[in-house]
Amino acid sequence: MPSSKSGKPAGRQDSGLKTQDPPCHKCGKESCVYLAHARLNFCKKHFVEYFEKKVFGTVREFSLIKKGEKVGVGLSGGKDSSVMLTCLKKLQKKMPFELFAITVDEGIRGYRSSSVKIAKDLCKKLSVPLKIVSFAGHTGKTLDEILKGGVGKTQDGRPKTRVEQSCSFCGVFRRYLLNKAAKALCVDKLAIGHNLDDFAQTALMNMMRNEPVRFARFGIKSGILEDGGFVNRIKPLARLTEKEVAIYAVLTGISLHGIECPYAGYAFRQKVRDMLNEMEERYPGTKQRIFASYLVVQKALEKEYSGKDLEIKSCKVCGEPASTDTCMNCRMLERI
Ligand code: SF4
Ligand code: ZN
Repeated sequence: MPSSKSGKPAGRQDSGLKTQDPPCHKCGKESCVYLAHARLNFCKKHFVEYFEKKVFGTVREFSLIKKGEKVGVGLSGGKDSSVMLTCLKKLQKKMPFELFAITVDEGIRGYRSSSVKIAKDLCKKLSVPLKIVSFAGHTGKTLDEILKGGVGKTQDGRPKTRVEQSCSFCGVFRRYLLNKAAKALCVDKLAIGHNLDDFAQTALMNMMRNEPVRFARFGIKSGILEDGGFVNRIKPLARLTEKEVAIYAVLTGISLHGIECPYAGYAFRQKVRDMLNEMEERYPGTKQRIFASYLVVQKALEKEYSGKDLEIKSCKVCGEPASTDTCMNCRMLERI
């Protein structure tokens, strides 16, 4: 197959929806998807089949769900979590387990209300019970309200606003609320919609920040911090790229949110994401190769840090699990 300098087959567009030849590599019928990293064309039926096989295969390979378990799904209403819930609902036909959805409403104007509606509609359509918890209910403030105001100065003397720390506040409160809601619902596992792009980004971010313990903790299922206070987290979309998830959503008619969080631009992750997308465009398969390295490195780090200096305590303020005397949630609550 002739290739361009960038590694892309000549005359073909990058992975995504398309309308031209060549045919589906499975059935020979007209294709609508080309995956550049695999150099394969798919018709709708065979792309959906490929996608679901990968999700179910990941669940099996890493023993993410066992028969009869209760699985909570962190459902934001974005494409990743909506696709994950849809696939897990289909998996229920092959193996019996229970599903619950949990939505965290951070309180981000013009962004979260529409995705909460998508989450509600999807749960209704799939007959999955939904529990909604909010930052306002937990902290007394929406994320927008939390981020108002300044917090000292940056190293170069500029006023430092909380907006620059939006994802830190958001991530800490969201993880805390999801874990608490999951425990209240007595679920065995908490499914998170992290896709392969998230894994590749996190692997690079943890290396750039020299955070091996965080790297060790970011597993396809909970590893070194397994403890009664934390509900085990599982990530069934780990082997699928963000683009594949988006294509699956479009082909199966899952409502797409389409609005980006207004604070996303402040995040370090966003810069890493842009860089990785550029590399993928030039060198298809880059994300897959980083993911393959991630699997090897994460396993080694998990072994290295397992049990070491990672004693789980109970937060002296709220009693939830913490690695120090006071958990991050309570430390952040003091700052707002
Ligand atoms: Fe929260 Fe940051 Fe994600 Fe926005 S981009 S939802 S602030 S973590
Ligand atoms: Zn606490």
